[in-house]
Amino acid sequence: MTTEARHPHLLKLVDPPIIVGHRCISCERIAFPPDPYGCEKCGSPSDNFENWDLEARGSVRAVATVHRHHRPAPITPFTVAVIELVGGPVVKAIVEGDDVVVGSSVEGFLAPEDKDDAGKVIVDLRFRITQ
Ligand SMILES: [Zn+2]
Repeated sequence: MTTEARHPHLLKLVDPPIIVGHRCISCERIAFPPDPYGCEKCGSPSDNFENWDLEARGSVRAVATVHRHHRPAPITPFTVAVIELVGGPVVKAIVEGDDVVVGSSVEGFLAPEDKDDAGKVIVDLRFRITQ
């Protein structure tokens, strides 16, 4: 069975998964997602970036429960959190579990979300509480 990331250029399918951000070579600012317009800090063009692996670990800065959603999946209710990664950037992602609060330590994992027409399993990054 073949597995593919929903956004292959943003995620490495290893365990634990790696988030692919970028680092500005001029000012060393680390960002995610990659910014096609250049560095927000120093203005360097985007060809002055290098890929930068980010650990899928961090802490919850804000949390919300989604009760209504415009798509059939994920099934509601689910929890979305703003997560400050240990590597610096902030991401929004689904966090599994009922006890997610501001300050929770979370780690990423690959969750199967869908199958394409060829039977390939599409996975995406989700988070869960670590303790
Ligand atoms: Zn920069």
